[in-house]
Amino acid sequence: MKSKIINVFIITLFILGHESNIIAQEASQTGVKFSKDLISNFSNAQFLKEEEAFNRAHGQEVKIKVETYHELGIALYQNDDLDNAIIVFQKSALVHPNNDSVLNIISRLYEQQNNIEKAITYNEQAIQVSINQAAGNEGYYQGEIVRLNRRPANPGIDILFEDGKYSFKKDNKQLITDIIVQSEKELRKLLPSIPEDIRLIVTIIDREINIVGGVTGRADTHNPAGEIIIEISNVFPGGIVAASKRALRATLYHEFHHLSRGWTIKNNKYGPGISIAAVNEGLAVVFSELYTGVIEEGNSYPEEVNTWVEEILKLPKNASYYKWVSGEHPDGRTAIGYRVGNYIIHEALSNSGKSILELSKLSPEEIITLAGF
Ligand SMILES: [Zn+2]
Repeated sequence: MKSKIINVFIITLFILGHESNIIAQEASQTGVKFSKDLISNFSNAQFLKEEEAFNRAHGQEVKIKVETYHELGIALYQNDDLDNAIIVFQKSALVHPNNDSVLNIISRLYEQQNNIEKAITYNEQAIQVSINQAAGNEGYYQGEIVRLNRRPANPGIDILFEDGKYSFKKDNKQLITDIIVQSEKELRKLLPSIPEDIRLIVTIIDREINIVGGVTGRADTHNPAGEIIIEISNVFPGGIVAASKRALRATLYHEFHHLSRGWTIKNNKYGPGISIAAVNEGLAVVFSELYTGVIEEGNSYPEEVNTWVEEILKLPKNASYYKWVSGEHPDGRTAIGYRVGNYIIHEALSNSGKSILELSKLSPEEIITLAGF
């Protein structure tokens, strides 16, 4: 299903991953770039020397670009040199004190070193900068802090009710727990490859998501343990109880299918590409619809869907995930990947005579072919 957080997360990853290329071109044009030597053999002294050389050449008032620091920091990170990557990003933050995303990157690096305290501190700083700059990212960083403060997962099915802006009432928790426990029992029979340990983090949101029945989810990882975020909207007509009764089971079917297929944010088994995303989302949508009978408007497709399929098949591998899958296209269409995926799977099912479980074992390419494209 769809979530705002996932978009921010994927966009961040996207920027991180693609920045180096863009910057490399720019840097070679201007000649401003840290030496390659600094990547393989980093030393503080050499780093400072190169910064000073830049300042001598351009004057103190010209700053080394954020992107130039990032290129070096990312290269060090990719070399597993976390300590020095942190030094470089910290310097970038010092030179560019109004950039909140640099602080969040430093937080992520500290998290990878298991220094949770520092990771939280840097997100707190990012919140301050975001507020001061009216960047609007403070909610995301606040969520990061909540995540970093989570207790470790318990074995088996572990339900963590995460109170934030809103708290769960006792009877809400009981209803949700009952639905999860029952659904898990059913799903283990259908999807035997799902991990033994699965943590479900359940939160309340005040975003209107009526188009998916008031509940949305996100599968974060499937290996070695599973982790799923479930968001329940308190502005759904009838509130938390009505949303949970309407769409929680269907959302669990959708997200558990992602776990079984390895279509998760971390440890993802698939390469990039909108058509791959569409097929994996489509499989989860149709699996959930067929077994729960709950069909949501947010996944439906129009009559001209064929042209939408042709459109996404022509997209480059790095096309925007937000625009084409989870969010809104500038022309007003929403959740294109889900709708197209839903159609592709229905076509593949009827052309092949296979069941949804059989289809779920095939690669995205095989499924697209079966669908007749
Ligand atoms: Zn999904």
